Parts: sequence; C-alpha cells; structure tokens
Amino acid sequence: MDYPTRFDVIVIGGGHAGTEAALASARMGCPTLLLTHNIETLGQMSCNPAIGGIGKSHLVKEIDALGGAMALATDKGGIQFRTLNGRKGPAVRATRAQADRILYKAAIRHILENQDNLTIFQQAADDLIMEGDTVAGVVTQSGIRFHSKTVVLTAGTFLGGVIHIGLQQHSGGRAGDPPSIALANRLREMPFRVGRLKTGTPPRIDAKTVDFSVMEAQPGDTPTPVMSFMGKLEDHPRQINCYITHTNERTHDIIRAGLDRSPMYTGVIEGIGPRYCPSIEDKIHRFADKDSHQVFIEPEGLTTHELYPNGVSTSLPFDVQLNLIRSIRGMENAHILRPGYAIEYDYFNPQDLKHTLETKFVHNLFFAGQINGTTGYEEAGAQGLLAGLNAGLRAQGKEGWYPRRDEAYIGVLVDDLITLGTSEPYRMFTSRAEYRLILREDNADLRLTEKGRELGLIDDLRWAAFSRKKEQIEAETARLASTWIQAGSAQAQQVVDKTGHVISREYSLMDLLKRPELEYQDVASLKGEAVSDPQVAEQVQIQVKYAGYITRQQEEIDKLRRHENTKLPDDLDYAHIDGMSNEIRQKLSQARPETLAAAGRIPGVTPAAVSLLLIHIKKRA
Ligand code: FAD
Repeated sequence: MDYPTRFDVIVIGGGHAGTEAALASARMGCPTLLLTHNIETLGQMSCNPAIGGIGKSHLVKEIDALGGAMALATDKGGIQFRTLNGRKGPAVRATRAQADRILYKAAIRHILENQDNLTIFQQAADDLIMEGDTVAGVVTQSGIRFHSKTVVLTAGTFLGGVIHIGLQQHSGGRAGDPPSIALANRLREMPFRVGRLKTGTPPRIDAKTVDFSVMEAQPGDTPTPVMSFMGKLEDHPRQINCYITHTNERTHDIIRAGLDRSPMYTGVIEGIGPRYCPSIEDKIHRFADKDSHQVFIEPEGLTTHELYPNGVSTSLPFDVQLNLIRSIRGMENAHILRPGYAIEYDYFNPQDLKHTLETKFVHNLFFAGQINGTTGYEEAGAQGLLAGLNAGLRAQGKEGWYPRRDEAYIGVLVDDLITLGTSEPYRMFTSRAEYRLILREDNADLRLTEKGRELGLIDDLRWAAFSRKKEQIEAETARLASTWIQAGSAQAQQVVDKTGHVISREYSLMDLLKRPELEYQDVASLKGEAVSDPQVAEQVQIQVKYAGYITRQQEEIDKLRRHENTKLPDDLDYAHIDGMSNEIRQKLSQARPETLAAAGRIPGVTPAAVSLLLIHIKKRA
C-alpha cells in the first residue's frame, strides 16, 4: 500500500492529551501519526468551554513554555479573560479564559495541520500490535495496520463509555460520539488495573430564551490577560460578558423530588465522580443547609446562541432537568438545546505507569489524559505533552525526561498520580504543590523553556523571544541593583511623596522596589528608563519583592533534591528491610517508587522509614 504505515510515534485520540502528545513528538522530529475517531472533533471541549483557572493555568503555561498548543489556541479563541486571585500573592494567581468552542477547535486544528512530521488519520484504533511485551503498532477499525516504535494512548472518556440520562443509558464516548469498545476489551485482557470513573455535564441553553437583565453581568478583567508567553492582545477575538444567577429552594425541591430517578442515587452509576466539579444533585445532597448555589452563565461562542450553565451538571431525567433549569431566575422560559448527562468510562490505575507515563507492563506504550484518572483539559494536555515527548525520546533511543515536583506542576501532577494513584477524578490545585512560590504561572517559561529547547520542543521563533525576555530581565534586575537614589534628591522626594517615609540614606532602586507600597512602575523610572515589556516588568517585580521567600524555598528544594536523585532499584525486596513495619513494607512493595523522595510521599511512609530505606540501599551498593 502506498500510504505511510511506519512511524516513530502513533498517538491514539485527538483530544487535549492526544493533540499535545502528537505535536510534541512531531516537533522533536519524530514521524508521528495522530489516529482519531473524527477529524472534526480534534481539540473538542467535551464539557465547559473554558481553559485555565486556579492550578490549571499553571499547567497551561507550562505546556506553553514547552512549545505546546493549548495557550496559543486559548488566545485565538478566548472571549472573556480573567485573572483569578488577583489580589493574592503571585504563587496562586491564575488566568482563566472563556473560550469560543469553534474558534478554539479551529486554532488547534490549524496548528496540527501545519506541523511538520505529523500525519493525521481519521479512524478508530481497535487493537494494538504486540511483539512479546512490547507494543509495535496499532490496528484500525477497518484493519489497517500502522507500525511504530512507540504508541501513546489518549482515549479520554471513550473506553467502555456509557452515557446516563435519568435511568436510561446507552453506549457512547461523549454525546454524539461512539464509544471505544474493541480497544477497551483488548486493554482489559492486559495486566493493567482497570476501574470505572464518571463525570457529568449540564444541559445547554438557548440564549434567545434567557432574560439576562435579571442576572449579574460579569465582564472580563482590564487589563486583559493573555494566556501564551507568545500571545498578544491582538490575537483575542471580540470579548463578551458572562452572567451570574442562582439556584433557589424551588430548584432544590425539584431536584430532591427527582432523586428516585437519578442514576447516581439509585446505584446505577458505580463510578466515582469529580469531587470538585460535582453534579447539582450531589451539591444539594452534600450541602443540604445551603438554600442557593451560584450558576455562571457562560456563552459557548461568538457565533452561537448556545449557553453553558456552569454549576448545574446533572444526569437527572430530562423532565427534571427542564423543571430545574426553569426554576432559576432569568431562565423561566429557557429552551434546552442539549440535555445534561453523566458518562462512566474505564480508567487505568496510574500506579501502573512510570514517571515518563510509559506503562510498567507494556514497553513503549504510554498512557495520557483522562484514562489515567484525571479530569480536565489542562491536566490531559500536560500529560499528553509529557507522554508525547517521552515516546519521541524513546523512539530516538534517548533517555526519558520528566520534571521534578520543584520544577513544574506537570511534575507534581505526574508524581501524585504515579506515587499515590487515584480513586476519584484528579484535578490540579495550587495546594497540591509544596513549592508554590517557585512554581508560579508567570515564570513557567523561565523554569522550562531552556529544557524544552534542549529536548527539541521549542522552535526558533519562541526561542528568540524567550532569550530576549530572559536577557532583559537580567539586565533590568542588574540596573535596579546598581542605580542609587541619594537622600535629599528630587527622586528621594518622589518616594517620600508616594510612601510618606523619609529617605535618610542612599538606596538602590532594588531596595526601594522591595517596599510593599512601591510598584515597579513607581521605582524604575526614578532614574533611567523602565522596560516597556509588561512580562519583563512583572517578572522583575516578583523576583525582587519575593526574593527572601524564594531563596528560602530554593534551599529547602536543594536539600530534598538529594533524595529525588536517589533512585530505588527495580528489584528492591522491601520484605527484607530491617526495622521497617510490615505495613510500610507492603505499601512500598505495592507502589514500587522510583526514587527515595517518591517513597517519602506515599501516605503512611514515615521519615524514619525513608532513613531505613536509605541505609538499606547504601548497604546494597
Ligand atoms: P478526550 O478529550 O475525551 O479525547 C479523547 C479523544 O480520543 C477523542 O478525540 C476520541 O474521539 C478519541 N478516541 C477515543 N478512543 C479512540 C480510539 N479507539 N481510536 C481513535 N480515537 C479514539 N472536565 C472537567 O475538568 N470538569 C468537568 O466538569 C468535566 N465534565 C465532563 C463531562 C463530560 C460529559 C465529559 C465527556 C467530560 C468532562 N470533563 C470535565 C472532562 C474533560 O472533557 C476531559 O478531562 C478532557 O477532555 C480529557 O482529555 P483527553 O484528551 O484525555 O480525552
């Protein structure tokens, strides 16, 4: 057949994980095949049309810092941008964008179609080609055999997917898409530990039937944030408002009366749902004392009347959905365009993976995204990028790479999954990272882009922009440190006017910037010229103002890094470690952590046990 059937990397699935995976390996120069059910759904948002948010934008910016597509597509598709936690410290500040679903998808498809080394093919993958315990390719639904050195599986909610609306159910990958049954059955024959999770989505509403005048308008923030380090305000399409309304006692009564036909409350759904994105029936049940919940009315795009009512995800029967929606202020006459539903799907215990996201049982097979027990586009994209780059490295015969917990939220995500596993859909929060002050969204490029360049993920354009920015930050920081203001000078008077404090001696601009009352713009042009690039100015300000805390955190990291670099042998026999309790031995044997630091993060593994482990491996060596 005169069609390319041999690749370095095959990626199954064109969702958020799959697109980042395929782009990553292709950017590294590996001939890559992206095999997906439907080209029209490349980069499709299955649920809410929004990217970013607390903890999540950190992941998006890290994907961006490694050359990925998500942030660029968000800038092309974002119709309302906000900075969350704007008044809190920079560690927890986050960017969130409401996205036009059609523009977002178009941006992802454009990037994919213009990527060198990437072939896209529309067809379901039904089987894996195996050579012993190594994967060697994929067989499609119509029997086409594609061979490859590595395979990345990113099948999302599609494996054995079952959709529930009330007590009715049918097979599906998500509304309107077929499930992946043959592949799910094939994977179930393999030694992976498979479980079931569930997630849900709200009914969609026709904006023509909604009274916005009784809702609170929520415009985007000014100045408007951009998502990508390469993004520009000019990339953004027209910006529009979201709206806020609330559920009420009547809504809650309607829901309670419908619970006897709820698949969740009648035990039809067994999979565990996302704790932080609960259905409205779950919220009414869990927070029984609350008589109202917020509902964010989010437009799905600039060219559609479809609305996403964020906060009322449900799998109740359609008649209950209609009544509950119509009980909400402003939606008394609402027309439902698509019913809400829940979906149950197969996921794999991520403890069966290595930090590179290669499976422990099948060589050269990598898993990424929702199938690893996570929820969210950002979590999926981050894993996709990591799996794709490692599949590429393997195909090139190079050693794998993953960021440590102190280098990236991607490192935290993967380490949490692999070390702790998960029994409910895992989403990222800033609280999951112990080194928040260092892992900020604003410095994701400074943390990762050089490594990305080394891995072959960063093109010349991004590299030039990054290098320029880095030089400017260094130059400006040096200028602030070496530019002095004399007591009694006109500049000193300006500082006194601003702060009310007397300037009694010589101060450098850097000293002044450390004062809480002063911002970069107040200080930088007292003598000389402030930089014009807002990203550079922001970075200089944060690095100077938080220098003390950042240094302290860095020292802590350096101490722990020694443990992070101490690898635990694959064949370590935990049963024979002197002085360790049986319970801890069992936990370690089950989790088989890759490093001493990872061992210490397993719940129940005490610092004393880590010391015993260290002594044991030193004795062995
Ligand atoms: P997906 O985006 O699901 O992409 C999987 C891709 O693989 C699809 O393109 C599919 O066609 C393709 N595929 C699957 N099997 C095959 C095969 N055998 N051959 C070829 N192609 C295949 N996230 C939240 O954060 N909050 C929520 O509230 C939330 N609610 C959700 C509600 C619903 C109903 C659904 C369906 C998802 C929801 N999500 C939610 C999850 C979010 O959509 C996912 O986390 C995210 O899309 C996962 O990305 P992914 O790339 O892993 O998988």
